[in-house]
Amino acid sequence: MLPIVEHPAAAKEFVTNPDRSRWHDRALWFVRSKRDLQASSLPEWEYLRQTASQIKTHTIANLAHYLEQFEQNAIAAGAKVYWAEDAAEHNEIVLQILREHRTSRIVKSKSMLTEECGLNHHLEANGIDVVDTDLGERIVQLRKETPSHIVLPAIHIKKEEVGETFHEHLGTEAGASDPKYLTEAARGHLRDKFLAGQIGITGVNFAIAETGGIVVCTNEGNADLGTSIPKVHIACMGIEKLVPRQRDLGVFTRLLARSATGQPITSYTSHFIGPKDDQSELHIILVDNGRTKLRSSPTFRAAMHCIRCGACMNTCPVYRRSGGHSYRATVPGPIGSVLSPTRDPNSYKSLPYACSLCGSCSDVCPVKIPLHHQLLAWRGELVGKKLLPMGKRVAMTLASHLFRHPRLFTTAGAIGRLSLRVMPRWMTHNRFNKWSIARDMPKPPQESFRNWHRRHRGN
Ligand code: SF4
Repeated sequence: MLPIVEHPAAAKEFVTNPDRSRWHDRALWFVRSKRDLQASSLPEWEYLRQTASQIKTHTIANLAHYLEQFEQNAIAAGAKVYWAEDAAEHNEIVLQILREHRTSRIVKSKSMLTEECGLNHHLEANGIDVVDTDLGERIVQLRKETPSHIVLPAIHIKKEEVGETFHEHLGTEAGASDPKYLTEAARGHLRDKFLAGQIGITGVNFAIAETGGIVVCTNEGNADLGTSIPKVHIACMGIEKLVPRQRDLGVFTRLLARSATGQPITSYTSHFIGPKDDQSELHIILVDNGRTKLRSSPTFRAAMHCIRCGACMNTCPVYRRSGGHSYRATVPGPIGSVLSPTRDPNSYKSLPYACSLCGSCSDVCPVKIPLHHQLLAWRGELVGKKLLPMGKRVAMTLASHLFRHPRLFTTAGAIGRLSLRVMPRWMTHNRFNKWSIARDMPKPPQESFRNWHRRHRGN
């Protein structure tokens, strides 16, 4: 994980490279447009969103009940179930299972939970060879980077850069950038890894309390390959992944792929209920890692409804231009900016401000999380915790005073309009006014809106 620094500083490199920033913006807007086409092709889209939101609200409200039901049914189906209070406990449980099986090589399909827990790092430090089998994840793993997006982990990397990485690690031709050629090379490379993998680790998209089954969605079939060759499957899931009944699942699978990549359905939606045969094992680890704390917050609890589709990132004007690494969090974008401060408000205090409050994230969220309202609420919390920088606190206190005193506001407006007309540029554009770094000051109007309105009232 990159060191945590405030969002504006972390975003600087990306936004001051206009080529990369524009290309990233366009790539994600393309995905967002595909999502719009899919959403508008379903007349029942809003009904599905409403239903999904209600199912999640009900499940999270009755979480203990559904977790117990899930555990009982998963055990009855032959799985072993573990509970991990935090990331360290989760990582230890995984390591313990690997040690019991004397395993040194694992294949792992995409799982943001294992990213959150820093599992790869922990296993590698204990001598385990971890291979991420999702193509994007494998690219960032070879480059020793972290995913910059929860669905499209390598979206920040251009195909020419993938060519360089594959040339260095997989021996492909120098200068190759043809996606088909590179994908074929990755496929060959990963086939060998699948065959050598002794244990398969996957994330979980949905867990069904009624059956004790889990569902993993991928577009590459890597979760299926990674769990069908090895005899042992370890599934790592956050406790919020539950849905009560099998029949609830269709609501979410219809929403997930459409919201994520603009596809009607993910290419592979794999169901696992118990181990696949008598010689196989299925281990399911239920991880809290701060989720119970989030659940206890009436303001931010709805963030637990997230199904990690990434739609809020694809639409966010800040994310699209500043890139996922600028958030310095496992989950970036609008939902990450809500989740990260719940873990550590001081380290992530800049994230709720990495937002224009345009509300586009809330509009696209398939489970109707009021993301921009939550980001605004976070700003209030941060002010209450006195975590804003002193300069901003003083400016906000002065602004609040100004807005509460109409006469002072009118006088300040008149002075502002006059001085902006006569002041030389260096007085408005200098290092103390960060707003002006990439902006010109607007031309001041001749009169205030209040005057204008008074003159035109009744016309
Ligand atoms: S908050 Fe909503 S839009 Fe964003 S990733 Fe989660 S489910 Fe998708």
